Amino acid sequence: MTKIVLENITKKFSGYTALDNINLKIRDKEFMALLGPSGSGKSTLLYTIAGIYKPTSGKIYFDDIDVTELPPKDRNIGLVFQNWALYPHMKVFNNIAFPLELRKYPKQEIEKKVKEIAKMLQIDHLLNRYPHQLSGGQQQRVAIARALVKEPNVLLLDEPLSNLDALLKIEVRAELKRLQKELGITTVYVTHDQAEALAMADRIAIIRKGKILQIGSPYEVYYKPKYKFVGKFLGNPP
Ligand code: ADP
Ligand code: MG
Repeated sequence: MTKIVLENITKKFSGYTALDNINLKIRDKEFMALLGPSGSGKSTLLYTIAGIYKPTSGKIYFDDIDVTELPPKDRNIGLVFQNWALYPHMKVFNNIAFPLELRKYPKQEIEKKVKEIAKMLQIDHLLNRYPHQLSGGQQQRVAIARALVKEPNVLLLDEPLSNLDALLKIEVRAELKRLQKELGITTVYVTHDQAEALAMADRIAIIRKGKILQIGSPYEVYYKPKYKFVGKFLGNPP
């Protein structure tokens, strides 16, 4: 089943075309990586899926429903950004609880859900700390927990591991992947890191200059690149 459809999406910033007629179908429970060099339009595409940006033209569907005009809060998505921006004055517990408090969940339910998701991400021993008392990897797990606690249908991540050192990257990468499969959550993952995309994704969309050049499994894009650029970019030049 198809979860998200992007139909002829174009996004212009005062005349500059950041996304050029993008067509993309993301399957239910799929882990889709958006991979491309810096400035290729990955974040713009992710924020357009999130509803943070409105496309200049084109349509977006979630579960066959036209959401093009829906604001982010009505799209049932979890978002994790590159700079994970936890609330510095709130303890980890309250950071994770925040989306539920906004939605006026009962206190007991909030506590239950926060503890559940914290346990899954192995940060349940950190709930009483403040963000500045955590390592980078721990902070990023808190951001992921905060995005997941309201049980969204779709998880959108923008280079979530780029600020972590190499070892932590591998650790959080594996954990994120496990969680994604366990929860069966449709995930769109923006990265410029080829190895990350190849290791994590079910399918990869290769983006360059606002256009999707190729969509395929890691195997397909690596071994059967449709363009010289794709082969080169993935480190398997012709
Ligand atoms: P990526 O995430 O792949 O690095 P972006 O989606 O951030 O790329 O940017 C794609 C292009 O659109 C870049 O040339 C960038 O300068 C431009 N762009 C992105 N956001 C804006 C904005 N808010 N206003 C003007 N130009 C933007
Ligand atoms: Mg970006």
